[in-house]
Amino acid sequence: MAEKRYYITTAIDYVNQKPHLGTAYEKIGADVMARYKRMCGYDTLFLMGNDEHSTNVEKEARKRGLDPLDYCREMSAEFQEVWKNLSISYDDFIHTTEKRHIESVKKLFARIDEQGYIYRDRYSGYYCESCEEFITEGDLVDGMCPRHMEEPKVIDEENYFFALSRFEKPLLELIENNPGFIEPKKRENEIVNVINSGLKDVSISRIGKEWGIPLPIDRDHVIYVWFDALTNYISALGYGEDHPRYRKYWPADVHVIGKDITRFHCIIWPAMLMAAGEPVPRRVFAHGFLSLSGEKMSKTRGNVLDPEELEKLFGAEALRYLLLREVPFDGDGDISIEILKNRYNTELANELGNLLSRTASMIVKYLGGSVPEGPFGNGSVLYPETAQGVERFREYMEQMRFSRALGAFWPAIQRANKYIEETKPWELARKDGSRDKLEEIFRQLLAVLACSATVLKPFLPAKMEKMLEILGTTPLSPEELPPGRAGITGLEKLEPLFPRLQAEKSQ
Ligand SMILES: [Zn+2]
Repeated sequence: MAEKRYYITTAIDYVNQKPHLGTAYEKIGADVMARYKRMCGYDTLFLMGNDEHSTNVEKEARKRGLDPLDYCREMSAEFQEVWKNLSISYDDFIHTTEKRHIESVKKLFARIDEQGYIYRDRYSGYYCESCEEFITEGDLVDGMCPRHMEEPKVIDEENYFFALSRFEKPLLELIENNPGFIEPKKRENEIVNVINSGLKDVSISRIGKEWGIPLPIDRDHVIYVWFDALTNYISALGYGEDHPRYRKYWPADVHVIGKDITRFHCIIWPAMLMAAGEPVPRRVFAHGFLSLSGEKMSKTRGNVLDPEELEKLFGAEALRYLLLREVPFDGDGDISIEILKNRYNTELANELGNLLSRTASMIVKYLGGSVPEGPFGNGSVLYPETAQGVERFREYMEQMRFSRALGAFWPAIQRANKYIEETKPWELARKDGSRDKLEEIFRQLLAVLACSATVLKPFLPAKMEKMLEILGTTPLSPEELPPGRAGITGLEKLEPLFPRLQAEKSQ
Protein backbone atom coordinates (compact mmCIF):
# COMPACT_ATOMS: atom_id res chain seq x y z
CA MET A 1 0.00 0.00 0.00
CA ALA A 2 1.29 3.45 -0.86
CA GLU A 3 2.36 5.50 2.13
CA LYS A 4 -0.15 8.16 3.01
CA ARG A 5 2.19 11.09 3.46
CA TYR A 6 2.13 14.39 1.64
CA TYR A 7 4.80 17.07 1.53
CA ILE A 8 3.86 20.43 0.01
CA THR A 9 5.90 23.64 -0.13
CA THR A 10 5.51 27.20 -1.40
CA ALA A 11 8.17 29.57 -2.67
CA ILE A 12 9.97 31.32 0.16
CA ASP A 13 9.61 35.09 0.08
CA TYR A 14 12.06 37.93 0.08
CA VAL A 15 11.33 39.98 3.16
CA ASN A 16 12.12 43.43 1.77
CA GLN A 17 8.42 44.16 1.34
CA LYS A 18 5.23 42.93 2.97
CA PRO A 19 3.28 40.17 1.23
CA HIS A 20 0.95 41.41 -1.49
CA LEU A 21 -2.18 39.74 -2.78
CA GLY A 22 -0.30 37.71 -5.43
CA THR A 23 1.91 36.19 -2.73
CA ALA A 24 -1.14 35.51 -0.58
CA TYR A 25 -2.87 33.80 -3.52
CA GLU A 26 -0.02 31.27 -3.75
CA LYS A 27 -0.10 30.50 -0.02
CA ILE A 28 -3.89 30.17 0.02
CA GLY A 29 -3.76 27.68 -2.87
CA ALA A 30 -1.11 25.59 -1.13
CA ASP A 31 -3.02 25.80 2.14
CA VAL A 32 -6.23 24.53 0.54
CA MET A 33 -4.30 21.57 -0.86
CA ALA A 34 -2.63 20.84 2.48
CA ARG A 35 -5.96 20.98 4.31
CA TYR A 36 -7.59 18.78 1.69
CA LYS A 37 -4.87 16.13 1.99
CA ARG A 38 -5.11 16.20 5.78
CA MET A 39 -8.87 15.60 5.52
CA CYS A 40 -8.16 12.65 3.21
CA GLY A 41 -6.03 11.14 5.96
CA TYR A 42 -2.55 12.00 4.68
CA ASP A 43 0.23 12.69 7.12
CA THR A 44 0.82 16.13 5.67
CA LEU A 45 3.77 18.47 6.00
CA PHE A 46 3.19 21.98 4.69
CA LEU A 47 6.30 24.16 4.56
CA MET A 48 6.59 27.89 4.07
CA GLY A 49 9.41 30.30 4.79
CA ASN A 50 11.36 33.47 4.17
CA ASP A 51 14.34 34.03 1.91
CA GLU A 52 16.63 36.24 3.92
CA HIS A 53 20.07 36.09 2.31
CA SER A 54 19.19 38.52 -0.38
CA THR A 55 21.20 41.62 -1.21
CA ASN A 56 17.93 43.53 -1.40
CA VAL A 57 17.04 42.46 2.11
CA GLU A 58 20.45 43.57 3.33
CA LYS A 59 20.08 46.91 1.53
CA GLU A 60 16.63 47.53 2.96
CA ALA A 61 17.88 46.74 6.47
CA ARG A 62 20.85 49.11 6.16
CA LYS A 63 18.57 51.81 4.78
CA ARG A 64 16.55 51.57 7.98
CA GLY A 65 19.68 51.50 10.08
CA LEU A 66 19.03 47.94 11.22
CA ASP A 67 21.18 44.90 11.49
CA PRO A 68 19.99 42.60 8.65
CA LEU A 69 19.22 39.76 11.04
CA ASP A 70 17.11 42.00 13.31
CA TYR A 71 15.32 43.34 10.27
CA CYS A 72 14.60 39.77 9.08
CA ARG A 73 13.16 38.85 12.48
CA GLU A 74 10.88 41.89 12.42
CA MET A 75 9.69 41.11 8.91
CA SER A 76 9.17 37.47 9.73
CA ALA A 77 6.77 38.44 12.51
CA GLU A 78 4.88 40.66 10.06
CA PHE A 79 4.68 37.93 7.44
CA GLN A 80 3.47 35.35 9.89
CA GLU A 81 0.82 37.75 11.16
CA VAL A 82 -0.55 38.09 7.62
CA TRP A 83 -0.51 34.30 7.17
CA LYS A 84 -2.23 33.74 10.49
CA ASN A 85 -5.01 36.16 9.57
CA LEU A 86 -5.56 34.25 6.34
CA SER A 87 -5.72 30.92 8.23
CA ILE A 88 -2.66 29.55 6.47
CA SER A 89 -1.95 26.28 8.26
CA TYR A 90 1.76 25.70 7.61
CA ASP A 91 3.41 23.07 9.77
CA ASP A 92 6.90 24.51 9.57
CA PHE A 93 8.30 27.91 8.65
CA ILE A 94 11.93 28.13 7.62
CA HIS A 95 14.22 31.15 7.58
CA THR A 96 17.35 30.86 5.46
CA THR A 97 19.37 32.48 8.24
CA GLU A 98 18.60 29.59 10.59
CA LYS A 99 21.40 27.27 11.62
CA ARG A 100 19.56 24.14 10.40
CA HIS A 101 19.32 25.69 6.94
CA ILE A 102 22.92 26.90 6.78
CA GLU A 103 24.21 23.46 7.75
CA SER A 104 22.14 21.75 5.04
CA VAL A 105 23.24 24.20 2.35
CA LYS A 106 26.89 23.62 3.21
CA LYS A 107 26.35 19.86 3.11
CA LEU A 108 24.55 19.94 -0.21
CA PHE A 109 27.29 22.12 -1.68
CA ALA A 110 30.00 19.78 -0.37
CA ARG A 111 28.18 16.74 -1.73
CA ILE A 112 27.84 18.23 -5.24
CA ASP A 113 31.48 19.30 -5.08
CA GLU A 114 32.60 15.77 -4.11
CA GLN A 115 30.77 14.42 -7.15
CA GLY A 116 32.83 16.74 -9.34
CA TYR A 117 30.14 19.13 -10.50
CA ILE A 118 31.64 22.32 -9.09
CA TYR A 119 34.62 24.18 -10.51
CA ARG A 120 36.22 27.59 -10.33
CA ASP A 121 36.34 29.93 -13.29
CA ARG A 122 36.16 33.51 -14.35
CA TYR A 123 32.69 34.99 -14.78
CA SER A 124 32.14 38.01 -16.87
CA GLY A 125 28.71 39.15 -17.78
CA TYR A 126 25.63 40.93 -16.51
CA TYR A 127 23.89 40.76 -13.17
CA CYS A 128 20.63 42.46 -12.19
CA GLU A 129 20.79 43.43 -8.54
CA SER A 130 17.02 43.64 -8.22
CA CYS A 131 16.43 40.20 -9.75
CA GLU A 132 19.53 38.86 -8.05
CA GLU A 133 20.05 36.92 -11.22
CA PHE A 134 22.72 36.68 -13.86
CA ILE A 135 21.37 37.86 -17.18
CA THR A 136 22.54 36.88 -20.62
CA GLU A 137 23.09 39.54 -23.23
CA GLY A 138 20.22 38.11 -25.26
CA ASP A 139 17.76 38.73 -22.42
CA LEU A 140 18.57 42.45 -22.19
CA VAL A 141 16.14 44.95 -23.67
CA ASP A 142 17.88 48.16 -24.76
CA GLY A 143 20.70 47.20 -22.43
CA MET A 144 18.35 46.90 -19.44
CA CYS A 145 16.87 44.12 -17.32
CA PRO A 146 13.43 43.61 -18.88
CA ARG A 147 11.79 43.05 -15.49
CA HIS A 148 13.17 46.05 -13.69
CA MET A 149 14.05 48.35 -16.58
CA GLU A 150 17.34 49.07 -14.90
CA GLU A 151 20.87 48.66 -16.17
CA PRO A 152 22.51 45.45 -14.98
CA LYS A 153 25.92 45.48 -13.34
CA VAL A 154 28.83 44.32 -15.43
CA ILE A 155 30.57 41.62 -13.45
CA ASP A 156 34.02 40.26 -14.00
CA GLU A 157 35.09 38.04 -11.12
CA GLU A 158 36.38 34.63 -10.10
CA ASN A 159 33.41 32.43 -9.29
CA TYR A 160 32.45 28.89 -8.54
CA PHE A 161 30.32 27.22 -11.18
CA PHE A 162 27.83 24.39 -11.16
CA ALA A 163 28.11 22.15 -14.22
CA LEU A 164 24.47 22.50 -15.25
CA SER A 165 25.31 21.79 -18.90
CA ARG A 166 25.95 18.15 -18.04
CA PHE A 167 22.30 17.71 -17.05
CA GLU A 168 20.55 18.45 -20.35
CA LYS A 169 19.91 14.81 -21.13
CA PRO A 170 19.00 13.67 -17.59
CA LEU A 171 16.55 16.60 -17.28
CA LEU A 172 14.86 15.83 -20.59
CA GLU A 173 14.57 12.18 -19.55
CA LEU A 174 13.15 13.18 -16.19
CA ILE A 175 10.46 15.27 -17.85
CA GLU A 176 9.68 12.64 -20.45
CA ASN A 177 9.47 9.76 -17.98
CA ASN A 178 7.39 11.65 -15.45
CA PRO A 179 4.34 13.18 -17.06
CA GLY A 180 3.00 15.80 -14.69
CA PHE A 181 6.41 16.59 -13.22
CA ILE A 182 5.88 20.14 -14.45
CA GLU A 183 2.33 21.47 -14.29
CA PRO A 184 0.59 22.99 -16.12
CA LYS A 185 1.60 21.56 -19.50
CA LYS A 186 2.38 24.93 -21.09
CA ARG A 187 5.07 25.50 -18.45
CA GLU A 188 6.54 22.09 -19.27
CA ASN A 189 6.76 23.05 -22.94
CA GLU A 190 8.61 26.26 -22.04
CA ILE A 191 11.13 24.36 -19.93
CA VAL A 192 11.73 21.73 -22.60
CA ASN A 193 12.43 24.54 -25.07
CA VAL A 194 14.91 26.14 -22.69
CA ILE A 195 16.77 22.84 -22.23
CA ASN A 196 16.74 22.09 -25.94
CA SER A 197 18.28 25.45 -26.70
CA GLY A 198 21.27 24.45 -24.56
CA LEU A 199 22.08 24.86 -20.86
CA LYS A 200 25.11 26.81 -19.69
CA ASP A 201 26.94 26.21 -16.44
CA VAL A 202 25.78 28.60 -13.73
CA SER A 203 27.74 30.68 -11.28
CA ILE A 204 26.85 29.68 -7.74
CA SER A 205 28.96 32.05 -5.67
CA ARG A 206 29.55 35.75 -5.24
CA ILE A 207 32.76 37.30 -4.05
CA GLY A 208 33.16 40.16 -1.57
CA LYS A 209 29.72 39.88 0.05
CA GLU A 210 29.15 39.59 3.76
CA TRP A 211 25.45 38.76 3.83
CA GLY A 212 25.14 35.11 2.90
CA ILE A 213 26.42 31.63 3.60
CA PRO A 214 30.20 31.37 3.20
CA LEU A 215 31.43 28.72 0.79
CA PRO A 216 32.79 25.74 2.73
CA ILE A 217 35.81 25.60 0.41
CA ASP A 218 36.53 29.32 0.03
CA ARG A 219 35.60 31.84 2.71
CA ASP A 220 35.99 34.83 0.37
CA HIS A 221 32.80 33.74 -1.36
CA VAL A 222 29.20 33.42 -0.30
CA ILE A 223 26.79 30.98 -1.89
CA TYR A 224 24.61 32.54 -4.57
CA VAL A 225 21.20 33.34 -3.14
CA TRP A 226 19.29 30.98 -5.46
CA PHE A 227 21.37 27.93 -4.57
CA ASP A 228 20.86 28.89 -0.94
CA ALA A 229 17.10 29.46 -1.27
CA LEU A 230 16.22 26.29 -3.20
CA THR A 231 17.84 24.17 -0.52
CA ASN A 232 15.14 25.25 1.98
CA TYR A 233 12.88 22.46 0.76
CA ILE A 234 15.27 19.86 2.18
CA SER A 235 16.97 21.84 4.93
CA ALA A 236 13.60 22.07 6.71
CA LEU A 237 13.60 18.25 6.75
CA GLY A 238 17.08 18.07 8.24
CA TYR A 239 18.93 17.11 5.05
CA GLY A 240 22.56 16.25 5.64
CA GLU A 241 22.05 14.34 8.83
CA ASP A 242 20.54 10.89 8.64
CA HIS A 243 17.30 12.53 9.58
CA PRO A 244 14.03 10.54 9.88
CA ARG A 245 12.06 13.58 8.75
CA TYR A 246 14.03 13.78 5.53
CA ARG A 247 13.64 10.07 4.87
CA LYS A 248 9.94 10.25 5.54
CA TYR A 249 8.92 13.32 3.54
CA TRP A 250 11.42 13.66 0.72
CA PRO A 251 10.84 13.79 -2.24
CA ALA A 252 8.22 16.53 -1.99
CA ASP A 253 4.85 15.77 -3.53
CA VAL A 254 4.64 19.28 -4.91
CA HIS A 255 6.50 22.59 -4.93
CA VAL A 256 3.93 25.35 -5.48
CA ILE A 257 5.61 28.35 -7.13
CA GLY A 258 4.87 31.31 -9.40
CA LYS A 259 5.27 30.86 -13.13
CA ASP A 260 8.17 33.36 -13.20
CA ILE A 261 10.55 31.06 -11.31
CA THR A 262 10.08 27.78 -13.18
CA ARG A 263 13.64 27.74 -14.58
CA PHE A 264 15.06 27.60 -11.08
CA HIS A 265 12.65 24.91 -9.89
CA CYS A 266 12.41 22.73 -12.99
CA ILE A 267 16.00 22.95 -14.24
CA ILE A 268 18.53 24.11 -11.64
CA TRP A 269 16.94 22.51 -8.58
CA PRO A 270 16.45 18.98 -10.00
CA ALA A 271 19.94 19.17 -11.53
CA MET A 272 21.41 20.10 -8.13
CA LEU A 273 19.63 17.14 -6.54
CA MET A 274 20.68 14.72 -9.27
CA ALA A 275 24.26 15.95 -8.90
CA ALA A 276 24.09 15.19 -5.19
CA GLY A 277 22.49 11.79 -5.82
CA GLU A 278 19.21 12.74 -4.16
CA PRO A 279 15.67 12.12 -5.45
CA VAL A 280 13.96 15.00 -7.25
CA PRO A 281 10.53 16.43 -6.31
CA ARG A 282 7.47 14.64 -7.73
CA ARG A 283 5.84 17.73 -9.10
CA VAL A 284 6.41 21.44 -9.61
CA PHE A 285 3.17 23.37 -9.96
CA ALA A 286 3.53 26.87 -11.42
CA HIS A 287 0.51 29.03 -10.69
CA GLY A 288 -0.41 32.08 -12.73
CA PHE A 289 -0.73 35.71 -11.74
CA LEU A 290 -3.54 37.87 -10.51
CA SER A 291 -4.18 41.12 -12.23
CA LEU A 292 -6.30 43.96 -11.06
CA SER A 293 -8.77 45.10 -13.69
CA GLY A 294 -6.36 44.17 -16.47
CA GLU A 295 -2.95 45.16 -15.11
CA LYS A 296 -0.44 42.81 -13.57
CA MET A 297 -0.12 43.59 -9.89
CA SER A 298 3.23 44.93 -8.88
CA LYS A 299 4.52 47.39 -6.39
CA THR A 300 6.29 49.54 -8.97
CA ARG A 301 2.99 50.04 -10.78
CA GLY A 302 1.25 51.01 -7.57
CA ASN A 303 -1.72 48.70 -8.14
CA VAL A 304 -1.02 46.22 -5.42
CA LEU A 305 -4.09 45.15 -3.56
CA ASP A 306 -3.29 44.71 0.06
CA PRO A 307 -4.64 41.38 1.30
CA GLU A 308 -5.57 43.06 4.58
CA GLU A 309 -7.83 45.57 2.82
CA LEU A 310 -9.74 42.84 1.03
CA GLU A 311 -9.98 40.89 4.26
CA LYS A 312 -11.77 43.82 5.86
CA LEU A 313 -14.30 43.79 3.07
CA PHE A 314 -15.02 40.07 2.72
CA GLY A 315 -13.51 38.44 5.77
CA ALA A 316 -10.44 36.24 5.43
CA GLU A 317 -12.47 33.09 4.87
CA ALA A 318 -14.57 34.37 2.01
CA LEU A 319 -11.49 36.02 0.48
CA ARG A 320 -9.76 32.62 0.31
CA TYR A 321 -12.75 31.14 -1.48
CA LEU A 322 -13.28 34.07 -3.83
CA LEU A 323 -9.68 34.29 -5.05
CA LEU A 324 -9.40 30.58 -5.79
CA ARG A 325 -12.85 30.46 -7.36
CA GLU A 326 -12.28 33.51 -9.54
CA VAL A 327 -8.74 32.89 -10.78
CA PRO A 328 -7.81 29.45 -12.18
CA PHE A 329 -4.74 28.27 -10.29
CA ASP A 330 -3.00 27.08 -13.45
CA GLY A 331 -3.56 30.31 -15.37
CA ASP A 332 -3.85 34.05 -14.96
CA GLY A 333 -6.91 35.92 -13.89
CA ASP A 334 -8.28 39.37 -13.57
CA ILE A 335 -10.07 40.50 -10.43
CA SER A 336 -11.88 43.57 -9.23
CA ILE A 337 -13.73 44.35 -6.04
CA GLU A 338 -16.98 44.39 -8.02
CA ILE A 339 -16.38 40.92 -9.48
CA LEU A 340 -15.54 39.48 -6.08
CA LYS A 341 -18.57 41.15 -4.47
CA ASN A 342 -20.93 39.74 -7.06
CA ARG A 343 -19.53 36.28 -6.61
CA TYR A 344 -19.80 36.57 -2.84
CA ASN A 345 -23.45 37.59 -3.02
CA THR A 346 -24.41 35.02 -5.65
CA GLU A 347 -22.57 31.95 -4.44
CA LEU A 348 -21.91 32.38 -0.74
CA ALA A 349 -24.82 34.55 0.43
CA ASN A 350 -27.57 33.39 -1.98
CA GLU A 351 -26.82 29.86 -3.04
CA LEU A 352 -24.92 28.26 -0.17
CA GLY A 353 -25.99 30.60 2.64
CA ASN A 354 -29.66 30.50 1.70
CA LEU A 355 -29.70 26.75 1.27
CA LEU A 356 -28.52 26.42 4.85
CA SER A 357 -30.76 29.08 6.38
CA ARG A 358 -33.92 28.08 4.50
CA THR A 359 -33.41 24.41 5.29
CA ALA A 360 -32.70 25.13 8.94
CA SER A 361 -35.58 27.55 9.47
CA MET A 362 -38.09 25.17 7.82
CA ILE A 363 -36.86 22.21 9.89
CA VAL A 364 -37.35 24.33 13.01
CA LYS A 365 -40.75 25.59 11.89
CA TYR A 366 -42.31 22.45 10.41
CA LEU A 367 -40.54 19.61 12.23
CA GLY A 368 -39.61 21.14 15.58
CA GLY A 369 -35.89 21.07 14.77
CA SER A 370 -35.50 17.31 14.20
CA VAL A 371 -35.30 14.95 11.23
CA PRO A 372 -34.89 11.26 12.13
CA GLU A 373 -31.80 9.76 10.58
CA GLY A 374 -32.33 7.79 7.39
CA PRO A 375 -30.54 6.71 4.23
CA PHE A 376 -29.32 8.97 1.44
CA GLY A 377 -28.53 6.97 -1.68
CA ASN A 378 -29.40 6.01 -5.22
CA GLY A 379 -33.14 6.34 -4.61
CA SER A 380 -32.81 9.92 -3.37
CA VAL A 381 -33.68 12.67 -5.86
CA LEU A 382 -30.60 14.74 -4.96
CA TYR A 383 -28.16 11.84 -4.87
CA PRO A 384 -26.99 11.59 -8.51
CA GLU A 385 -26.06 15.27 -8.85
CA THR A 386 -24.34 15.24 -5.46
CA ALA A 387 -22.36 12.05 -6.07
CA GLN A 388 -21.26 13.24 -9.49
CA GLY A 389 -20.29 16.66 -8.12
CA VAL A 390 -18.13 15.13 -5.42
CA GLU A 391 -16.43 12.77 -7.81
CA ARG A 392 -15.47 15.53 -10.22
CA PHE A 393 -14.47 17.77 -7.31
CA ARG A 394 -11.97 15.13 -6.14
CA GLU A 395 -10.49 14.73 -9.62
CA TYR A 396 -9.89 18.45 -10.01
CA MET A 397 -8.50 18.77 -6.49
CA GLU A 398 -5.81 16.19 -7.30
CA GLN A 399 -4.82 18.39 -10.24
CA MET A 400 -4.94 21.52 -8.04
CA ARG A 401 -7.55 23.04 -10.36
CA PHE A 402 -9.38 24.67 -7.47
CA SER A 403 -11.72 26.84 -9.47
CA ARG A 404 -12.84 23.88 -11.55
CA ALA A 405 -13.21 21.70 -8.46
CA LEU A 406 -15.58 24.24 -6.90
CA GLY A 407 -17.37 24.72 -10.20
CA ALA A 408 -17.83 20.97 -10.55
CA PHE A 409 -19.48 20.61 -7.15
CA TRP A 410 -21.62 23.75 -7.27
CA PRO A 411 -24.50 22.29 -9.36
CA ALA A 412 -25.29 20.04 -6.38
CA ILE A 413 -26.01 23.13 -4.28
CA GLN A 414 -28.05 24.74 -7.04
CA ARG A 415 -30.01 21.52 -7.56
CA ALA A 416 -30.84 21.42 -3.84
CA ASN A 417 -32.18 24.98 -3.94
CA LYS A 418 -34.30 24.07 -6.94
CA TYR A 419 -35.58 21.01 -5.09
CA ILE A 420 -36.98 23.29 -2.38
CA GLU A 421 -38.87 25.26 -5.05
CA GLU A 422 -40.16 22.05 -6.62
CA THR A 423 -41.33 20.34 -3.44
CA LYS A 424 -42.70 23.48 -1.72
CA PRO A 425 -42.39 22.29 1.90
CA TRP A 426 -44.44 25.30 3.06
CA GLU A 427 -47.47 23.91 1.19
CA LEU A 428 -46.85 20.33 2.28
CA ALA A 429 -46.64 21.43 5.90
CA ARG A 430 -50.28 22.57 5.78
CA LYS A 431 -51.49 19.12 4.71
CA ASP A 432 -52.24 16.30 7.13
CA GLY A 433 -50.10 13.17 6.97
CA SER A 434 -47.23 14.87 5.19
CA ARG A 435 -44.66 14.45 7.95
CA ASP A 436 -42.84 11.47 6.35
CA LYS A 437 -42.63 13.28 3.05
CA LEU A 438 -41.28 16.42 4.73
CA GLU A 439 -38.70 14.41 6.66
CA GLU A 440 -37.48 12.79 3.45
CA ILE A 441 -37.12 16.17 1.72
CA PHE A 442 -35.15 17.68 4.58
CA ARG A 443 -33.02 14.57 5.02
CA GLN A 444 -31.85 14.98 1.45
CA LEU A 445 -31.19 18.68 1.92
CA LEU A 446 -29.21 17.92 5.07
CA ALA A 447 -27.11 15.35 3.19
CA VAL A 448 -26.26 17.90 0.48
CA LEU A 449 -25.40 20.49 3.14
CA ALA A 450 -23.12 18.10 5.03
CA CYS A 451 -21.43 17.22 1.77
CA SER A 452 -21.01 20.91 0.87
CA ALA A 453 -19.53 21.76 4.26
CA THR A 454 -16.98 18.96 3.85
CA VAL A 455 -15.81 19.76 0.34
CA LEU A 456 -15.71 23.48 1.09
CA LYS A 457 -13.88 23.11 4.38
CA PRO A 458 -10.35 23.46 2.92
CA PHE A 459 -11.44 26.79 1.37
CA LEU A 460 -13.59 28.14 4.23
CA PRO A 461 -12.18 26.32 7.27
CA ALA A 462 -13.85 28.15 10.17
CA LYS A 463 -17.16 28.85 8.41
CA MET A 464 -17.55 25.23 7.36
CA GLU A 465 -16.52 24.00 10.79
CA LYS A 466 -19.36 26.13 12.10
CA MET A 467 -21.72 24.72 9.50
CA LEU A 468 -20.81 21.14 10.36
CA GLU A 469 -21.42 21.99 14.00
CA ILE A 470 -24.87 23.37 13.14
CA LEU A 471 -25.60 20.20 11.17
CA GLY A 472 -24.36 18.09 14.06
CA THR A 473 -22.05 16.13 11.76
CA THR A 474 -18.40 15.27 12.01
CA PRO A 475 -16.64 15.82 8.69
CA LEU A 476 -16.12 12.70 6.63
CA SER A 477 -13.02 12.23 4.54
CA PRO A 478 -13.74 13.73 1.10
CA GLU A 479 -12.99 10.22 -0.18
CA GLU A 480 -16.08 8.88 1.64
CA LEU A 481 -18.60 11.34 0.26
CA PRO A 482 -21.50 11.61 -0.26
CA PRO A 483 -22.72 10.57 3.19
CA GLY A 484 -24.89 7.47 3.19
CA ARG A 485 -27.21 8.77 5.91
CA ALA A 486 -28.53 12.07 7.20
CA GLY A 487 -30.68 13.44 10.00
CA ILE A 488 -30.59 15.99 12.80
CA THR A 489 -31.90 16.71 16.28
CA GLY A 490 -32.27 19.90 18.26
CA LEU A 491 -31.73 22.38 15.43
CA GLU A 492 -32.35 26.00 16.36
CA LYS A 493 -32.81 29.22 14.46
CA LEU A 494 -29.62 30.52 12.82
CA GLU A 495 -27.84 33.76 12.09
CA PRO A 496 -26.82 33.95 8.41
CA LEU A 497 -23.36 32.44 7.78
CA PHE A 498 -22.67 34.80 4.85
CA PRO A 499 -24.53 38.10 5.30
CA ARG A 500 -25.16 39.86 2.02
CA LEU A 501 -22.80 42.66 1.00
CA GLN A 502 -24.29 45.93 -0.20
CA ALA A 503 -23.51 46.92 -3.76
CA GLU A 504 -21.04 49.77 -4.25
CA LYS A 505 -22.87 53.09 -4.59
CA SER A 506 -22.39 54.47 -8.08
CA GLN A 507 -20.56 57.77 -8.14
ZN1 LIG B 1 16.00 42.69 -12.81
